Amino acid sequence: MTVRVGVIGVGMIGQDHIRRLTGVLAGARVVAVADVDPERARQVAGQAIGVTVHATGLDVIADDDVDAVLVASWGATHEEYVVACIQAGKPVFCEKPLAPSGEAAGRIVDAEVAAGRRLVQLGFMRRYDPGYLALREVVAGGSIGAALLVHCAHRNPTVQPHYVADMAITDTAVHEFDVVRWLLDEEITAVTVHRPRPNRHGGDVQDPLLLLLETESGAFVDLETSVNIRYGYDIRTEVVGEDGTVELGPVAPVVVRREGIQGSPIAADWQERFEKAYDVELQHWIDSVVAGTAVGPSTWDGYAAAVVSDAGLTSLHRGGRVPVALRDKPGLYLKDR
Ligand code: NAP
Repeated sequence: MTVRVGVIGVGMIGQDHIRRLTGVLAGARVVAVADVDPERARQVAGQAIGVTVHATGLDVIADDDVDAVLVASWGATHEEYVVACIQAGKPVFCEKPLAPSGEAAGRIVDAEVAAGRRLVQLGFMRRYDPGYLALREVVAGGSIGAALLVHCAHRNPTVQPHYVADMAITDTAVHEFDVVRWLLDEEITAVTVHRPRPNRHGGDVQDPLLLLLETESGAFVDLETSVNIRYGYDIRTEVVGEDGTVELGPVAPVVVRREGIQGSPIAADWQERFEKAYDVELQHWIDSVVAGTAVGPSTWDGYAAAVVSDAGLTSLHRGGRVPVALRDKPGLYLKDR
């Protein structure tokens, strides 16, 4: 079976996923697109044969020739499209964040619970990165004992002009909110955001931030977000256990020595660093559509990350420690890990 995919939102990552679905992965074909900018949609559709351009994302979902939908529009638009997919019974891959608030994400949980089956895979691609998978295997295997602390850094060389202070929480740190829950297999219970001395490259954006997350078991997670660090895109995670530690290894496959210096290349951006993870996550999605059961990061994971983001924003703006209040986990998501 070839899965016929409709894509809503053909900006940066939408186009990258179309390239992946069309030329890299097996088992899928892009048959329809829509974008709030119709000219952009026409341009993207024109690069392949047999791609229909629809006026709206809802038209993509309603298209009988579309088996499954990929949502890559702005986060604030995800709720409408993901709920419409669930109501139409169509599998949907939704880029992160699931929604801009815990309240909006909760409505998507309600829709999927009402449908009685998982239809959503969320784009938390770090779960498919070979380094993170190896890290999790060590933590879950128990050889370093119970996890007590996690040290994380999320560093970008620069950000786009539309980046505002809140995005350090909702767009940047949200990846760690998910990956920490997944690594430790527990929920985050409180967030405190500190504002260190600002980077002179940051302009109006408060940068860096230092977040302290607390988890159900009492583990503490410190997370640095630096989005104007200039030297490269650098993601770090180290778990400190009772008997040892485990951390992401160097990503570069080679060490270069020249002119008196030894070094390894650093990724320029997130596309380069996580290229393999994006490929694996999307192949996983196609395979799950064929199999008829959604797998991977779920609506619940998107909801939990959104509620942690809410708490992070409150702490960023009002200061202090903010508890995270999740609703009870519906049975639909209990067997996910
Ligand atoms: P982008 O380049 O701005 O692309 C978004 C596209 O969606 C634009 O073409 C935009 O049009 C269009 N759009 C906006 N509202 C729409 C609507 N209601 N219906 C249809 N199309 C609409 O942004 P991006 O960087 O690709 O990000 C898109 C999403 O992917 C975001 O949620 C982002 O957080 C996520 N993302 C995830 C990762 C990851 O690591 N997993 C990486 C990058 C992005 P206009 O520009 O004309 O408004």
